[in-house]
Parts: sequence; C-alpha cells; structure tokens
Amino acid sequence: MNKKLKSIRGMNDFLPIDTYLWQKIENSIKKIINSYGYSEIRLPIIEKTNLFKYAIGKETDVIKKEMFNFNDRNNENITLRPEATVSCVRSGIEHGFLYQKEQRLWYIGPMFRYERPQKGRYRQFYQFGIEVFGLIGPQIDAELILIMSRIWKKLDLLNYFSLEINTIGSIKTRIKYNNDLTLFFKKNINLLDFESIKKINNNPIRILDSKNIKIQKLIKKAPCIYKYLSKKCKIHFYKLCKILKNIGIKYNINKKIVRGLDYYNYTVFEWVTKNINFKSTICGGGRYDKLVKNLGGNKTPAIGCAIGLDRLILLIKSTKNILKYNLSIDINIISFNIFNIKFNIIKLVEYIHDKLPKLRIFTNYNNSNIKKQLINSHKIFSNIALIIGKNEIYNQSLIIKNINNKIQIILPKNEIVIYFKILFFKICSN
Ligand code: ATP
Ligand code: MG
Repeated sequence: MNKKLKSIRGMNDFLPIDTYLWQKIENSIKKIINSYGYSEIRLPIIEKTNLFKYAIGKETDVIKKEMFNFNDRNNENITLRPEATVSCVRSGIEHGFLYQKEQRLWYIGPMFRYERPQKGRYRQFYQFGIEVFGLIGPQIDAELILIMSRIWKKLDLLNYFSLEINTIGSIKTRIKYNNDLTLFFKKNINLLDFESIKKINNNPIRILDSKNIKIQKLIKKAPCIYKYLSKKCKIHFYKLCKILKNIGIKYNINKKIVRGLDYYNYTVFEWVTKNINFKSTICGGGRYDKLVKNLGGNKTPAIGCAIGLDRLILLIKSTKNILKYNLSIDINIISFNIFNIKFNIIKLVEYIHDKLPKLRIFTNYNNSNIKKQLINSHKIFSNIALIIGKNEIYNQSLIIKNINNKIQIILPKNEIVIYFKILFFKICSN
C-alpha cells in the first residue's frame, strides 16, 4: 500500500465532527416521521439489475448512465441501488404486505449513482425516504408535503425552501403527450442542442427541463401537458392545492417539474432551495400508482418522496453556526496512572452509567499526567472533570472540578450520583 490511499471517487468518509450533525438531523427527522405513525423498513443495498431497469425506465438518465452494475460470483447482474422506492415495492410484493393493506413506511440509507462528483452530487449519497401504499386520495399527497414542511420548520430552514408542485397525468396520458412532444421537437430540431436531440425519441419530456435559454424559449411554444389531463387527474390536483392553501403551505405550480424516473404519475413535487450555489433540489417525490402492478403485485396506489441528506446538511452548514451541534462530554474522568486506581475507576464509571444512563462519560485510560488530562477536557467539550487520586481512593471521596471557573469540591463517593443528578438535571430527566 502506498501513501496515496484514497476512497473511491464520489464516495465520502464522514468523521465525528460531521456525524454529530448527521445524527442530530436524522434524529429530528425520525421523531417527526414517527409522530405521524410511519414505520421503518430496512432494505438491501443491492438488487438484481433488471428490477431497476424495468421499474425506473430504460431511457432515464439513472438507468442509462448512472447505475453501479456488477456481476457477482454466480454471474448474476446486480446493482447498487440508485434509489429505494423500487426495492420497497419489491419487498412489499415479496412479503405480501401490500396486499389489501395500507402501509406508511420510511427508510434511511446510502444510494449509489455513477454521476460526475461535485458539491451536492456524489456517487454514494444518503436519502431519507417515505413510501405510502394503498391510498388514492390527495390527502396523502398533502400529508407527505406537510411532513416535509414540519421537518424544515424543526431544522429552522423553512424560509430557505420553495415548494414546487405539478401534475403530470397518468402514464397513458404521458405516452400520448410524449408522442406529440416528439413530433413538435422533430419539427424544431434545428433549434435543439445535442443533449436534447438525444432525448427526442425516447424521453422528450426531459427536454422540458433543459437549461439552454434558446431551448427554453422554444419550450414555451411546445404542447402543454395540462391540455392532455383527464378530468379525474385535474380534480385530484385541484383538491391537493386546496388542502395546501387551507393549511397555509405556500407552493408554486411549476410545469417544469417532470421528475427523472418513468414510474411517476399525477402529483409530483420538489422542495428547492435557492440559497446555495450547488444543485438545489433537496427533496423530490410523487405518486407512482402503477408501479406495484407493473412489478407483478396487485393494483396498489402509492406515493413517496426522498430527501437528499447530503444536500440538506450542506444547506444547514451554509446557513448555521454548526459548532453548537458538537456533542459534548458531560463528565471527563481523570486519574493518576496507578493500576489500582484505574482498576477502581472502571467500577465507579459503570456504577454511574447504571444510575445515570443518559450522561456521556469519557474515561481517560492514557498515561498522561493530571494536568494534561485536565487540558484535554476542553478538547472533548467537557466542563466537568471528576478527579480520582490516591487519597480519594483511600478516603472514598472524589474531586469534582468545573473546568471553566476552576472551582473544585470534594464529595464522598456515595453522594456523587445525587450530585450529578442535580447538576445534569435537564439531561437526566429528558
Ligand atoms: P438531480 O436532478 O439533482 O439529479 P434527481 O431528480 O436525480 O436529482 P431524485 O432521484 O429525485 O433526484 O432523488 C431525491 C433527492 O436525492 C434529490 O432531490 C437530491 O437531494 C438527492 N440526490 C439525488 N442524486 C444525488 C447525488 N448524486 N448526490 C447527492 N444527492 C443526490
Ligand atoms: Mg439525478
């Protein structure tokens, strides 16, 4: 092995300074999703390649360019999951938990897409996602949006977001619409760029989110999906908008939101942030009422969405002082380096853990002197040090030192739990 040991491109390590923040964010999100009665599902990170190909759509960017495909030892084609909706549906069909049942599920974990790494775009990234099965009405569309809105509020980020919603009709409607779009773009092929021309036959709807200004001008004249929508679809969308208005959720109806995967229908939405200079969609989702049936299950309406956690954390870091997310140590245990003392300490610390399990206690096992151990208290964000020397073992007493104001007291060993319970009342009673 040489000096240039490096992780694989686009795949990041997260060190403790980051994981404190990640844990904090994930815990806030989990609390909110649990409060809505959703349950966690854990899924494998590898599935058969064909599952994704079939479900996501052969002409999508994800399938054409972004999959991590391998052959296993048995020569089976397998793929590191680019998203988890498809795995969730596979699991539902396999275990029969979708059959005539409503399910409200969430997951968290890594996804893999072979993209060009840049800020906010990685080859291994993390999503928190929600999938709901068995509910047809717009109320559940609204609930997903409300959950997201509550998460942003809890993280004090609501003002950085705008909610963009759209309806893209049924899959049948879209086939007709796609045909007409193809005809339109073929007529105007001389105005298209190379990227758009590649999509003209198989995925013309994706030309609609081209960033090219000339093409954007052309798009204004292109057929509009709204003219193709059924009455049922329009009513669904109208009702969703009405619920959101009624509850005070601000939204923009944005025709450009078409989503990158083929399985979506009816409602689609994205939470976008304009605050940062990297690609700004942080959460995307929509209905996928045909996917369960298409993968071999019973007809089951469904909707889901996913937050890109890496991007969410970038947003938080760019808007907040994140030092406050450092997890501090409550008690730093300091002692002389004498075997008998260290031996006694382990017993004492276990005793405190038994009595006050919520405290974070750091025990020094190194050979450095007391002064160095005290200095280290700052580094580990500990205000309180518990010092044990020879006398203390002999007297059955302990020194408690406040690192900031340097005040120290001596307490009999049997009073220490009650002392810490009062000192750390907030943490202990939480
Ligand atoms: P984009 O248009 O940015 O490529 P997407 O439409 O491919 O996003 P989705 O499949 O909707 O993304 O995934 C939901 C969320 O997951 C995105 O809104 C984003 O926050 C996050 N995400 C997707 N791809 C990546 C990636 N390569 N790196 C980091 N986050 C990602
Ligand atoms: Mg993408």
